Amino acid sequence: MEIEITSATPTRYWHLLDDGRVQCDLCPRFCKLHEGQRGLCFVRGNQNSRVVLTTYGRSSGFCVDPIEKKPLNHFLPGSPVLSFGTAGCNLACKFCQNWDISKSREMDTLADEASPETIARAAEELGCRSVAYTYNDPVIFHEYAIDVAKACRARGIRNVAVTAGYVCPEPRAEFYQYMDAANVDLKGFTEDFYYKLTGGHMEPVLDTLKYIKHETDVWLEITTLLIPGKNDSDQELNELTQWIARELGPDVPLHFSAFHPDWKMLDVPATPIETLFRARELAVNNGLHYVYTGNVHDKAGQSTYCHHCGHLLIGRDWYELSQWNLDATGACSQCGTRCAGVFEGEAGSWGSRRLPVRLRDYA
Ligand code: SF4
Ligand SMILES: [Zn+2]
Repeated sequence: MEIEITSATPTRYWHLLDDGRVQCDLCPRFCKLHEGQRGLCFVRGNQNSRVVLTTYGRSSGFCVDPIEKKPLNHFLPGSPVLSFGTAGCNLACKFCQNWDISKSREMDTLADEASPETIARAAEELGCRSVAYTYNDPVIFHEYAIDVAKACRARGIRNVAVTAGYVCPEPRAEFYQYMDAANVDLKGFTEDFYYKLTGGHMEPVLDTLKYIKHETDVWLEITTLLIPGKNDSDQELNELTQWIARELGPDVPLHFSAFHPDWKMLDVPATPIETLFRARELAVNNGLHYVYTGNVHDKAGQSTYCHHCGHLLIGRDWYELSQWNLDATGACSQCGTRCAGVFEGEAGSWGSRRLPVRLRDYA
């Protein structure tokens, strides 16, 4: 697609091809671009024989959310997180649950002008412990996300990535230097699912999960959206959860969330709650310590239990914390076994509030 590029920030991960096009090397799509052409993500394009980012400094909106909504259940529970995104996406999921943002080709979506410094200041003034790069995938606004993350770190604010993990190794290593926590989607557990329903491949996502877990100090949680008849068979869920237990270890929390018909998948029904119960039970039987249900009301499936003695550690009712049985070091108050995660003293008290923020008020 050829469209005039009006805002252009230079980027690093690309190279010139012999035929005069440029290849973007940020994600495994490796878009090969003619002059003036944009990549599949729509926000990066070829301008003057180099790849530029067109959405630097502009956002589709800001909101203070509970950290549990990302979802992260083991990272500063109960704390508020300033969340924002831009536009576009580097996958093409037919079941996209955020398509108004991810498929946006209207730069009107990017209403809020937002410098990294303003975002960091807003987060601090709003009492947020972290800033989340979410709503659409931060992979594609790499340079902007990193500059925001640096400004946040300078003020003691943590950084949280919500991502599909579809990124090349070099930019991945740069990006995760600045992150403190990540929730990575593992959208299914067959190459066929990834190829047919997301337009991507599974292996790079598995590589990202292993990289975050084994090569960084970033706190990692995983989300799998269960789509009836597409990725919810016992066999696929057994393979997925056994892979997590074997390759990442039992302490990585896994969230199974419910699909609702959207975007190009209106012919598939919403996920029955029984599917979420079945998936959770199967994951626990495969050795995972912390498995959650999401997008449904299920107090038991959204609470955290001690994997050693079974004691309720953190009770949750939607995004509200109802019980807290961890000591100041994050250990079980009954048996002393440490709960995996990032806990600093008391539970936060943000609750389930969702507070839209006008960033220009903080400029
Ligand atoms: S980041 Fe965008 S332009 Fe670059 S390879 Fe991925 S989809 Fe293509
Ligand atoms: Zn215990």
